Amino acid sequence: MTQALSSCTATLVNRVLEEPSRLDRVIFGSRQDPFAMTPSERDHFLLDVVVDSLQHHVRNNPRVASFFARHNFSPESLGRLADLDTIPLLSADVYKRMRVTSAADTPIVRSFTSSGTSGAVSRIERDNLTLQRLSGSIRQAARLLEPWVPRDVNDEDLELVNLGPSREEAGEIWFAYIMAMAEIIAPSTYYVSGGVSYLEAAADAVMERITSGGLIGIVGAPFLLFELAKRFLSTKKRPKAHERLFVITGGGWKRNQAQAVVPSTLRAMTVEAFGLVSESQIRDGFNQVELNSIFFECDYHRKHVPPWVHVTARHIETLKAIPAGEAGLMSYVDASAMSYPCFFIADDLGTVSADPCPCGRTGPTVTYHSRIARQQAEGCSSKLDAKLTDRRRK
Ligand SMILES: [Zn+2]
Repeated sequence: MTQALSSCTATLVNRVLEEPSRLDRVIFGSRQDPFAMTPSERDHFLLDVVVDSLQHHVRNNPRVASFFARHNFSPESLGRLADLDTIPLLSADVYKRMRVTSAADTPIVRSFTSSGTSGAVSRIERDNLTLQRLSGSIRQAARLLEPWVPRDVNDEDLELVNLGPSREEAGEIWFAYIMAMAEIIAPSTYYVSGGVSYLEAAADAVMERITSGGLIGIVGAPFLLFELAKRFLSTKKRPKAHERLFVITGGGWKRNQAQAVVPSTLRAMTVEAFGLVSESQIRDGFNQVELNSIFFECDYHRKHVPPWVHVTARHIETLKAIPAGEAGLMSYVDASAMSYPCFFIADDLGTVSADPCPCGRTGPTVTYHSRIARQQAEGCSSKLDAKLTDRRRK
């Protein structure tokens, strides 16, 4: 996967950046593992790149400049890591209501919308660098998936079974785009077409690949993995994949929430259904359209936050930052987004852990809890609107 992408990103860095920034050297670099920085290195790096990013948005986005001014906030006031929690944050709802681009001089390459299970959708415009940094983020996060997702695999060694819709079929839908990014790993075959899921064909492909001795990756939403696993568990004809299969899930259960099982149950089912040797072969990833980075699980099923993103859980009523280890509304400051301001409070409930992960990587890890009930979320959005946005002032 990474050989092809490395040359691609190297070309990109040379083409787009005369002098790559410190952030780009880390996102696009292949030598340094961003998750292996020392805690002190990580803190300094995060602070530096966030200040750079916020200064960029102030310069290129008058809405951000006036938003910060109204909050008497200046990026230059950020002197230590704890100060990052003082950054005024947008409500994720802002992206649904207005165009918030910071791309004054750079063309928008693609505009993405959220999957929109209900109501209005977010629209996020990405320029070339922002989009390439997202790819870089996925490549770096894929380090967490080793050795199951090998870094130096040849295309012919690996085949991906993608349980989600193809990018073309899904249009601009963000989740499908992220799923399709798996194509940077290896050739993919899609098993959803015309809105119909072809799990039987996916099951056949898995059996055939395992029987022929190849390596296979399954990519898809948890509910589709659940259905595929159930299909194998209901029959004696199951693959015995051992070490030759890995699974990457993402996107949550969405409309299938009623059938949702806890992640550990899904992993146990998957190990049995495919004849795997370890639950470590099954990893979940988190991303949302407003966020320009992806968080993958490590061996210990903890989602690691890359060092260019600051994540804080916030009190559901007061929106104040709460201590690590307590559940709250997730908020993000992602320094990798150039073409739009990426500092916002989401409507996901989660917990940020500062405890060292047994895998040895540095930085916080996050756990997401069930999607906040819609009614509750709308209540929160109203509060966020009142507190954080300038709708009535414009
Ligand atoms: Zn870990």
